[in-house]
Amino acid sequence: MENCIFCKIAKGELPSYKIYEDDQFIALLDIHPISRGHILVIPKQHHRWVHDIASFGDYWEIARKSALASQKAMNAQWVQYFTHGLIPHAHIHVVPRYDSIEKGRVLPEKVLSFPKEEMEEIAEKIRKGF
Ligand SMILES: [Zn+2]
Repeated sequence: MENCIFCKIAKGELPSYKIYEDDQFIALLDIHPISRGHILVIPKQHHRWVHDIASFGDYWEIARKSALASQKAMNAQWVQYFTHGLIPHAHIHVVPRYDSIEKGRVLPEKVLSFPKEEMEEIAEKIRKGF
């Protein structure tokens, strides 16, 4: 789809911090992370909603692997998943959490920013554990 940021990333027209890639899906770091190691899992083909993806189980398996890899690599307490449709290309958020699950907010409210070198380091760490 034209002017879709995730389609452009999938085609390699925009740079990204990739964690994982196969013929259908890509896991990458969110460039507007709400936690250190915040991952997005996207299909390479344009789909509006997560539930539009026929291989739904395979899709969530990549999210599961992303969660396990990020939890281990980033030493997270727990990992949160969520989806929404604010960007009109399906994506699953995988968010490593460092706060106590009992005391934690449903979602961290602050968008964080890490320098490019640190984003590359985080991606490399998680990639190794995938
Ligand atoms: Zn798209």
